[in-house]
Amino acid sequence: MAALKACSALVTGANRGLGLEMVKQLLEAHCSNIFAACRDPDGPNSEALRELAKKHPGVIYLVKLDVADPCSIKESAKKVGFLLGKNGLNLLVNNAAVLPQKTMLTTTVEDMQNTFNTNVIGPLFVIREYLPYLRTAAKAKGKPGMSCDKAAVINISTDAASMSIMPVLKEPFPLFPYSISKAGLNMLTIYTARDLKADEILCISIHPGWVRTDMGGDKAPIDARESVQGVMRVIDSLTEKQHGAFLDYSGKTMPW
Ligand code: NDP
Repeated sequence: MAALKACSALVTGANRGLGLEMVKQLLEAHCSNIFAACRDPDGPNSEALRELAKKHPGVIYLVKLDVADPCSIKESAKKVGFLLGKNGLNLLVNNAAVLPQKTMLTTTVEDMQNTFNTNVIGPLFVIREYLPYLRTAAKAKGKPGMSCDKAAVINISTDAASMSIMPVLKEPFPLFPYSISKAGLNMLTIYTARDLKADEILCISIHPGWVRTDMGGDKAPIDARESVQGVMRVIDSLTEKQHGAFLDYSGKTMPW
């Protein structure tokens, strides 16, 4: 994980599942500043993250961040900006998401709105609020091209967002609001990639595989460690050639 060494990274939804595993593996990769963002850092769902942060003071910083709340995003960005200093933020991982198990016939207005707030609108405003720090990092690197040790936005997507995969996917549970919101997240990747190209800030969507977490359930074929090892390998190897791509955790290109 050469490129991730000495980087600064922020992961949303870092208190459990894939987000927590990402924090662990960023630590193993010797990332120097890891901002582990979650909506309730003092709550019972964040105990494992708190324990980890306690063991690594000055490396892991707990950040209160509810991605469905624009004020919380703004507040978090102010605090992280203060800690970041002149080198900016190299890596932003939009990982937090929700999956209400609803079909086209059972979903409610609230299900659709809450899912979009967390899975699409949240990532958009997280990118916008943290953009000054990503720009600072991209400039501070002082070399052309794109990479995760310069500045990158990684949107955690899913195969269920793919227009061509979804119709043939054997759904373990109803994915209606989730799939549609993640397809929206993929379009956010396309826009971000286009609009941040001039700043040389890399942006991709990545499918982490079907993983045994609270969201993926216990029938999923891979565990969080295997998924995140793949995701980290892909992130570490990114260049401008993958800018705007939709990849999976093995690096394979996914169909939109
Ligand atoms: P989990 O359900 O295990 O964890 C979800 C995380 O998102 C939790 O940390 C949760 O925090 C957080 N979260 C939810 N809403 C908010 C919010 N409003 N603000 C901040 N954090 C929030 O999911 P996974 O770890 O499995 O999923 C991680 C990512 O991977 C997601 O983007 C998911 O869509 C994607 N993915 C997962 C797959 C799988 O099989 N597991 C398959 C494909 C994609 P809290 O504890 O506070 O609820």
